[in-house]
Amino acid sequence: MSESMTGSPGSGTPVETAIIGAGPAGLFQIFELGLLGIKAHIIDSLAQVGGQCTELYPDKPIYDIPALPICGAQELVDRLLEQAKPFHATFHLGQEVTELQPLPNGKFHVATSSGTRLVAGAVVIAAGVGSFQPRRLALPGVEAFEGQSVHYRVKSAGDFHDRDLLICGGGDSALDWTVALCGKARSLTLVHRRAEFRAAPATVARMRELVAAGKMQFVEGHATALRTDGGALRGAVVQTNDGRTLDVAAEQVLAFYGLHPKLGPVAEWGLELERKALKVDTENFQTSVPGIFAIGDINIYPGKKKLILSGFHEAALAAFGIQHHLFPEKRQFLQYTTTSPIMQKRLGVSGESATATDSH
Ligand SMILES: Cc1cc2nc3c(=O)[nH]c(=O)nc-3n(C[C@H](O)[C@H](O)[C@H](O)COP(=O)(O)OP(=O)(O)OC[C@H]3O[C@@H](n4cnc5c(N)ncnc54)[C@H](O)[C@@H]3O)c2cc1C
Repeated sequence: MSESMTGSPGSGTPVETAIIGAGPAGLFQIFELGLLGIKAHIIDSLAQVGGQCTELYPDKPIYDIPALPICGAQELVDRLLEQAKPFHATFHLGQEVTELQPLPNGKFHVATSSGTRLVAGAVVIAAGVGSFQPRRLALPGVEAFEGQSVHYRVKSAGDFHDRDLLICGGGDSALDWTVALCGKARSLTLVHRRAEFRAAPATVARMRELVAAGKMQFVEGHATALRTDGGALRGAVVQTNDGRTLDVAAEQVLAFYGLHPKLGPVAEWGLELERKALKVDTENFQTSVPGIFAIGDINIYPGKKKLILSGFHEAALAAFGIQHHLFPEKRQFLQYTTTSPIMQKRLGVSGESATATDSH
C-alpha cells in the first residue's frame, strides 16, 4: 500500500493543488494552473470526467461557449481534456472526497472514499451541484441488502454469473449489462416501467432478440417488494403494467435508475455557505478559508450565473489566487499565450524556441 493510501492527516502524497470535481470548471482549472506552472491532482466521484455535461446531457448541443457556435456537451469535455493534456494532471476517478481539513503547516489534508490521501498546498472545489450518487431502489428493507445482493453498479461481472439476476432500469447501463450478462447469469429478468428505452437502439434490439430466443425475460412494470428467506435475497415482487403480480427469482439485483447530485461532504468542511453554495471573494474565488478556492456551479456571489463560461472565468482568476497563495513572494504579471515563451514551453508548442527558464 502506497503512502498516499494510508496514515493520518498530513501523511499523504504532497501535491501543489488538489481540484475536487472534474466537470468543465475543474478541467479548465488544470489548464489555467498549468499555464502558471502549477501542477494539479483532480478527483471525481464519477468514473469519468465531465460532470453534468457527461452525466446528464452528453449528446445535447451547447450554443453559448465562446467561439464555438455549436458544441456537443461530450465534445466540449473532450476538448477541455485535450487542452489540459500538456499539464499532465493526475486523475483520481471513481472516488468521492470525504475529508478536507487544514493542517497546522498551512497545507490541506484531502482524503477520498477509496483511501487516497493528499497533502495539498491549495485546494479548488469545483464540485458543481454535488457529487453524483446512484438513485436507490425504493423498496422496504433494501438497506440490508445493498452492497451484498442489491447493487447500483457492477464492480465485477463475475459476481453475477450462475445467479438468478434481476436488472431494473431502461437506460444504457441497464441494457448494456442485460446483454452482457444474459447467458452468464442462471436466469435474467429485466424490469422497466415502459416498453421504450433510453439506450442505444442496437442494444435494445439485441435484448429483444434474447427475449424472443427464450434466453431472458422482459417485464414491463416495477418492483414493489423484495422476497427474502432466512436473511438471503430470493426474489422480488413485480407489478406489471397490465395488472398482474409476478414473483421474479433474484439472488442478485442490479438497479440502474440514474444518478442524482448530492452536496454531501462539501457542506461539512466548515466553509461559509449561502443557499447550499460556497461563498467566495470574486477577486480570486477564494472561500472563507484562505487556500481553499471554489469555482463553477458550487460557488455563490452577487450576480452569480451558473453557466459553463462563468466557471472558465473563475478558473482563470482562481489560478492567480492560488499562485499568490503558494508563492506569495512572486510578483504577478499577465502573460499572453500568443507571445509568452514560458507559457508556450509549458504548452509544449515551441519547446526549442523558448528561452525563458521554467519557474513559477
Ligand atoms: C440539461 C442541462 C443543460 C445545460 N446546458 C447548458 C448550456 O447550454 N450552457 C451552459 O453554460 N451551461 C449549461 N448547463 C449548466 C452546466 O452544465 C453547468 O453550469 C456546469 O456543468 C457546471 O460545471 P462545474 O464543473 O461547476 O460542475 P459539474 O459539471 O456539476 O461537475 C462537478 C463534478 O464534481 C464532482 N464532485 C462533487 N462533489 C464531489 C466530491 N465530494 N468528491 C469528488 N467529486 C465530487 C461531481 O461528481 C461532478 O462530476 C446545463 C445543465 C444541464 C443539467
